[in-house]
Amino acid sequence: MGKRAGTTTAGRVWMSMLATGMVSGAGAIALNHFFPDWRLIHYPLHASVESVGAFAAFIIATLILGLRNHGRLGVAYVWVASALISMGFLDGLHALMHAGQGFVWLHSAATFLGGTTFMFVWAADRFDGQAWTRGVPYGAFAITAGVAAGSLLFPEHVPRMVVDGQFTVAARVANVVGGIGFLAAALYFVPRRAAKTERRGSMVFSSHCLLFGISGIIFEFSMIWDAAWWFWHVLRIAAYMIAVLFYFRLARGIEDDLARALESERQYSALQQQFVSLVSHEFRTPLAIIDGSAQRLLRRKGDITPEILEERLGRIRAAVERMVGLIDTTLYAARMDAGKIDFSPTPCDVAELVRHACANVAATSEHHQIQCDVSALPARLDADAKLLEHVFLNLLSNAIKYAPNAPRIDVSAWIDGNDAFIAVRDQGVGIPAGDLDKMFERFFRAKTSAGIRGTGLGLSVSRAFTRMHGGDITVESAEGEGSAFTVRLPLTPAG
Ligand code: ADP
Repeated sequence: MGKRAGTTTAGRVWMSMLATGMVSGAGAIALNHFFPDWRLIHYPLHASVESVGAFAAFIIATLILGLRNHGRLGVAYVWVASALISMGFLDGLHALMHAGQGFVWLHSAATFLGGTTFMFVWAADRFDGQAWTRGVPYGAFAITAGVAAGSLLFPEHVPRMVVDGQFTVAARVANVVGGIGFLAAALYFVPRRAAKTERRGSMVFSSHCLLFGISGIIFEFSMIWDAAWWFWHVLRIAAYMIAVLFYFRLARGIEDDLARALESERQYSALQQQFVSLVSHEFRTPLAIIDGSAQRLLRRKGDITPEILEERLGRIRAAVERMVGLIDTTLYAARMDAGKIDFSPTPCDVAELVRHACANVAATSEHHQIQCDVSALPARLDADAKLLEHVFLNLLSNAIKYAPNAPRIDVSAWIDGNDAFIAVRDQGVGIPAGDLDKMFERFFRAKTSAGIRGTGLGLSVSRAFTRMHGGDITVESAEGEGSAFTVRLPLTPAG
């Protein structure tokens, strides 16, 4: 699917590159053919076009370097930003000059340096991770500043660029070599399989470089101030505008992402605060039961019958069990967040594990009977016993908790295809239809849980554990009629 999408994008880019190349080439030839003598000598217009381009180049370079610092763009973009810095600098200076040797020289140097630097995107991966690559944009700036200063201080040493109103070989070579550099970079940017932001960046820079490449080549067929000459200026400004618009959109997208992340962080921390107060409340209740039972035992020291002793100790044990369960769930959730859950499946007797959990949970309530028939399960199933035990303790203790007035709980098992199923059914408060799809979200508690202690953490942990086994948990329920939670486990571990 991803591959097909990538191919289609690449196909579209190839098509648009071809179309852009043909339209630009045909445009230049047509202008040369139909308006051979047309000239527009307009310094302010030219200066504006070049300064807008230079300004755009700096903005894009800055944005790129910023995005790279945030790890959003790959190492190739170091070279893109460096090329843009060179081009922005020299083209900006060129915009300020009067037509002549220096004027053409600065522009040609911009195309040459820009194109050859851009071409380094092909080698970027090889240099990836080497410390010196961080300095490349500064290096580009220093070299460009050197070229600019040299050109202004020693104009007599600048290669001759125009003779008799025609561009010299040196000028043509500089522009065509730069143009070829841009075309090579355009090929690099034909989208390959990359992250989404990168893919869009690739598309932008493939057209950006293509327009620059073509304008470098068209230079060859133009004369200063003629129609083709203005035409390649238009192509270049179009190239800059494409990139600027894209990066403004990208930056806005990042801002939106940040705002969304902040909002969800805020919601999460509100939930966590709610959770902390729930947990502390959850600890208080069993501690109060333990304390109360112990005090009563103390007070009646002399005349404790074995029945009273059993009843009180039973309460204490149930309260301790509840606290241990809560601590386990909380710790598991924290370890899951830290990616530190150790999943080690071994062949295990799941039927025995479920029976054991049933017996444990049944001991915590005098009012409930758990009917457990899991004989359909195979003798051995690959599972992590600790994690799976936690899942069934959670489901069974929920069944008791959310069915205070319905004593019967059924646990059954069956095999279907390549899966084993274990269902825990109660006839308790049930879950409203509108809440069913949120049952496994962390901290979510159904409306029917009002007045019943809980944190909304257990089911999300249980589902995560079951999924680690390649299985899942599903729920069927109707408000007031009870619930059935079904665990599915693959008979053969997912390969
Ligand atoms: P807790 O029970 O601590 O709130 P869980 O994650 O185990 O946390 O359960 C999440 C929510 O799912 C509960 O608050 C309750 O609304 C609902 N729930 C879970 N099991 C049952 C059940 N057997 N019957 C009705 N509702 C249930």
